[in-house]
Amino acid sequence: MLDFHFTISLPIFCMPDISPEILAKYEPVIGLELHAQLLTNTKAFCSCKAGYSDIPNATVCPICLGHPGTLPVLNTKHVEMAVLLGLATQCSIRPISAFARKNYFYPDLSKGYQITQFNDPICYQGNVTIEIEEGSMKQIGITRIHLEEDAGKSLHDIDIDTLVDFNRAGMPLLEIVSEPDMRSAAEAYRYMVTMRQLVRYLGICDGNLEEGSLRCDANVSVRLKGNSVFGTKTEIKNLNSFRNVEKAISYEIERHIALIESGGEVRQVTMQWDASAQCTKEMRSKEQAHDYRYFQEPDLGYVRIEETMIAQQKDQLPELPLAMKLRLQQHYGIPGYDAGILTEDKDLALFFEHTCSLLSVQSKERYKFVSNWVLTEILKILSDRKVGIAQAEMIQPKAIAEIVDLFADEKISSKIAKEVFAEYVSTGISPNEYVSQKGLMQISDREEVERIVLSALEGEEENIEKYRSGKNNLMGYFISKVMKASGGKANPRLVNELLTQHLQ
Ligand code: ADP
Ligand code: MG
Ligand code: ZN
Repeated sequence: MLDFHFTISLPIFCMPDISPEILAKYEPVIGLELHAQLLTNTKAFCSCKAGYSDIPNATVCPICLGHPGTLPVLNTKHVEMAVLLGLATQCSIRPISAFARKNYFYPDLSKGYQITQFNDPICYQGNVTIEIEEGSMKQIGITRIHLEEDAGKSLHDIDIDTLVDFNRAGMPLLEIVSEPDMRSAAEAYRYMVTMRQLVRYLGICDGNLEEGSLRCDANVSVRLKGNSVFGTKTEIKNLNSFRNVEKAISYEIERHIALIESGGEVRQVTMQWDASAQCTKEMRSKEQAHDYRYFQEPDLGYVRIEETMIAQQKDQLPELPLAMKLRLQQHYGIPGYDAGILTEDKDLALFFEHTCSLLSVQSKERYKFVSNWVLTEILKILSDRKVGIAQAEMIQPKAIAEIVDLFADEKISSKIAKEVFAEYVSTGISPNEYVSQKGLMQISDREEVERIVLSALEGEEENIEKYRSGKNNLMGYFISKVMKASGGKANPRLVNELLTQHLQ
């Protein structure tokens, strides 16, 4: 559930150094609660536009503000997206579930309660597979996925006052609760990355931690290795980046261990990650926990999921990230490392496949060239321009296929390929056209290359002697001399072969 409370006390725990031997005695246990803001057109229970607005309180109405006498109406897209995610995570889908009111007071909750689900979440008992290291998989249980609405946003301005923006109030959320199945901060990090990738592939959430469209609360405990019962957990809130998720969990694990080692006891408290101080701070303890007085939402009927709807959502399921990764590896013969990066963003993977389909020769060697090109040259440009491949209209699969074909056909060298690519990106000129216009075609005619080699060796008697008497590293000097003489266009393979022959 979403929690909005006043900060109560903020003692800072300075971390004592713990030896690796002591750390190794303990096993961390971690479970994550995620909130995904959905990419629907309208809010969960009213027709207000969903999505971000620059103007505070621009997308609000009496329903999402909770004015008396208004009635919520369920957005079916909200339910469909929950079912889609439930299917993608092997969950059971509950045929009939109810909404509940979670009552609490907070300035950004003008209704005085949040509509959520309580005892009967729409999806339950699923799992996702995460790849901990290349090729090493682990299943993480999904306890439940339920429907709920978001609250507004308090803006704490030091100069003015606390202001409230209700644009976010009533936005559709899915809360995704994992089983306590993770055993290290690194595993929790992998789980987060996997879930973000999943909601993006499904097109239900843009998964932006920094902007809060995907939020994470981490539950952490430790126990002596071999113990079967879990230790007391604490919950960390306010983790708004992947780095913070991993750092905060690591910090909290060590804090628990230090506490236990010094004879203390972990108390069940809610912590907050303080990114500037790089530590967790206590927000409130269990005794201060609220009684939310849950009861069934009387203004909404039951959520009924028909078999036909489940079938429809099954049809909507795209190929999932891990399956796509394994397929790319298999079909194109590229390494798992390459396939992993390509499938981080579905659009990038599709770009790769599209490019491969346009190659003049279908071969694993060329597929690998395409992969190399995407992973180095293209990703570099995307990260410089801070865009995804889908927004980078100046880079089209056809041009990349042309470059790879030119290179694989030994018509251009890798150095010229880079020049051709740079020219294509800045002017849009097609690689084939540019190469023929500028006469950049590689010289692969044996006799012509031989002529260049021989003329480059003229006047080099002294160096040739040295080479023959064992100074092998002079080869590099000869190669670069020949390449220079050819304007960078001589076929490097032929240069190597002919030089070796004439130097013998
Ligand atoms: P609460 O009643 O405090 O909300 P839940 O049992 O609902 O606790 O679990 C909330 C989250 O905490 C889940 O993601 C769950 O996996 C995780 N969790 C539960 N117990 C532990 C534990 N001992 N250590 C770490 N995580 C835990
Ligand atoms: Mg709970
Ligand atoms: Zn509204």
